[in-house]
Amino acid sequence: MAKTKTVELLGISVRGVVQGVGFRPFVYQLAAKHGLKGWVCNTSGDVKIEVEGEGQALERFLAELESQAPPLARIESIATTRLPPVGYADFHIRESIAEADKYQLVSPDIATCQPCQKEVFDPQNRRYRYPFTNCTNCGPRFTIIEDIPYDRPLTTMRRFRMCPHCQREYDDPLDRRFHAQPNACPRCGPRLELTDNRGNPIPAEDVLTTASQLLQGGKIVAVKGLGGFLLACDATSQEAVRLLRQRKRRPFKPLAIMVASLEEARKHCQVSAEEERLLLSPESPIVLLPWKAGSPVTPEVAPNLRYLGVMLPYTPLHHLLLRETGLPLVMTSGNLSEEPIAKDNDEALRRLGNLADYFLMHDRDIYARYDDSVTMVELGRTRVLRRARGYAPYPIHLPFPVRQILACGAELKNTFCLTREGHAFLSQHIGDLENLETLEHFETTIELYKKLFRIQPEAVAYDMHPEYLSTKYTKELQAQPNNLAFVPVQHHHAHIVSCMVENGVSEPVIGVSLDGVGYGTDGLIWGGEFLVADYGRFQRWGHLENMPLPGGAAAIKRPYRMALSYLLELGLFDPGLAFLKEISAEEIRIVRGQVEKKFNSPLTSSLGRLFDGVSALIGLRGEIDYEAQAAIELEMLSAPGVAEEYPFSIAEEEGKYVIKLGELFVAIISDMKRGTPNPIIAARFHNTVTRMVLRMCQLISEKTGLKVVALSGGVFQNRLLFRLTHVALEGAGFQVLSHNLVPTNDGGISLGQAVIANAILDNKKRN
Ligand SMILES: [Zn+2]
Ligand SMILES: [Zn+2]
Repeated sequence: MAKTKTVELLGISVRGVVQGVGFRPFVYQLAAKHGLKGWVCNTSGDVKIEVEGEGQALERFLAELESQAPPLARIESIATTRLPPVGYADFHIRESIAEADKYQLVSPDIATCQPCQKEVFDPQNRRYRYPFTNCTNCGPRFTIIEDIPYDRPLTTMRRFRMCPHCQREYDDPLDRRFHAQPNACPRCGPRLELTDNRGNPIPAEDVLTTASQLLQGGKIVAVKGLGGFLLACDATSQEAVRLLRQRKRRPFKPLAIMVASLEEARKHCQVSAEEERLLLSPESPIVLLPWKAGSPVTPEVAPNLRYLGVMLPYTPLHHLLLRETGLPLVMTSGNLSEEPIAKDNDEALRRLGNLADYFLMHDRDIYARYDDSVTMVELGRTRVLRRARGYAPYPIHLPFPVRQILACGAELKNTFCLTREGHAFLSQHIGDLENLETLEHFETTIELYKKLFRIQPEAVAYDMHPEYLSTKYTKELQAQPNNLAFVPVQHHHAHIVSCMVENGVSEPVIGVSLDGVGYGTDGLIWGGEFLVADYGRFQRWGHLENMPLPGGAAAIKRPYRMALSYLLELGLFDPGLAFLKEISAEEIRIVRGQVEKKFNSPLTSSLGRLFDGVSALIGLRGEIDYEAQAAIELEMLSAPGVAEEYPFSIAEEEGKYVIKLGELFVAIISDMKRGTPNPIIAARFHNTVTRMVLRMCQLISEKTGLKVVALSGGVFQNRLLFRLTHVALEGAGFQVLSHNLVPTNDGGISLGQAVIANAILDNKKRN
């Protein structure tokens, strides 16, 4: 007797990034391949599938659902339930269902895929030279989404009605553009427009050709991209780059460049295998690459630096501009010094009118501001320094579920973090929260994330620094009637926990948190910290010797003030030192007064300030244009192959290990007097800081038995120091945790804050 095949029905729920990435057509095709009937549907929380058919076919379907998912899908879970068969006649794609309170992940914007690039450069294709070409595997996502589920009416594409050709692609489950929400073509989609800096259209037979000619002629063009406007100019023209710097009022801050291809990148920089992978990845970030001598990119692009920030084109518009200009282009955020990136056309004309000569715009609105991400590869691993395009709003996975918390981050390089279940939605880079424009960007982006991920926080975590705008935002919430719990979190504790979380570690570690400014529990400014920490608690085991910060913020902007502070405080002031010649007698008198009378000179244990002080002392950098410039130039100057280090001592004061700096400064000054070249001094100084970290960790380990060290804080953006300490600690038998997808700088703080607040609230509940 022939065996009758029993028909079974399976209900499936798939979670992760499974919408807007071609997942439903993939399911459709997979069902067809295995002869299964039923349906697939997007909801606010997942992709739901019902498949009906014979058992073995269902099993193969399930296996391939996971193993053959489209490239941009990220499956987090697949749940199945057995249902009574209903006898479906075919397999079809059902209308999306919106459900209150359900949430799902949203895909970041993704760089133009290969097939779309091919179409854009194919004269026979209907999308030839069309700058808004995209498909389910590439293009804008997060920046155009106003709400979920991700469907065209809930995006900024709703105003473009698809032509019949595009509609056919959109409706055809076998097409690469099936339900590609930003699908468009030259007939029906967004259009380019070229204007002068007052918004008057420039007559042009072909906008792209004219814009390219303007760039070739040394003009500055504001180009509307995915998440905002970028300012573009010829990166090989000293004149054009200088003009851009003048207008942006940024004499030194490094600018990123965009080059047409990987081959072009290799002309300017060394590119390792991991860096190559990163440049070509769908995230397409800026990668800080070792800059080759003889590169035609003008040194003005990144003065005094050895690394160049390079990215490849990530939209068809970029591909076309780069190909037609035939030049590497500076592509830097369209903003004035500290403000957020401009995103709307009229806003850009208003805010960037004095920066750019021309505007290359279009009529597809940007809903979310979204900067380019910045990365580097150190010790073979990607390190994200600015996490935005391509990465956010994909969440960081928590080792356990947490309550819904809003963590407000710190001040510089602010990000916030919203948590729900096992997801930490670390926001894209918001910027330096120092002005109202950035504060507004912070507030609207919080509201967007709350809406997209259906989060209603029950607690708010914030930095202890009373002057941060993020703290003031928290205080305002606190003054309103609500049931929110408010949890202050220490800055360096947050750094260390963010590193622990990223590495999935929850047992106590030795935390080495090195940065510029962080408010301490004693009201002093911390920044050279050695902690023992877990999620709920930390103990400060040691720190760098406290020094006056004469004039507070003034000492950060003018590192020579820090150099003076160290010399005066350590009794090493010598009027013959060369760097003093650059400073007025009046200024020296003021600083001396501040240090001696302890007036307007908060004490700080910051390692960032120590780098600043040494940089100024040796005459390298006395005043800065951008954050950490003095320290960065000290790193860049360091000679390779130097083994010596300077002396220092560690004292026990009030139960803490304190690194004393007197011997270090005596030795540096005597090196200077002996005429030791600065690159040697810089290298010896790096070796010394490495030794400090190692000795402190060994002392703490001897007392606690801990063998795991977490490295965090902005100072670890210093690649040389990061490499040296990592290697030294591992060589001494420590297990070293470091950052990968979460920034080591203050951009990573909010993640730590959220997890700490959750632990503190857990402890409260228990007690
Ligand atoms: Zn594509
Ligand atoms: Zn069309």
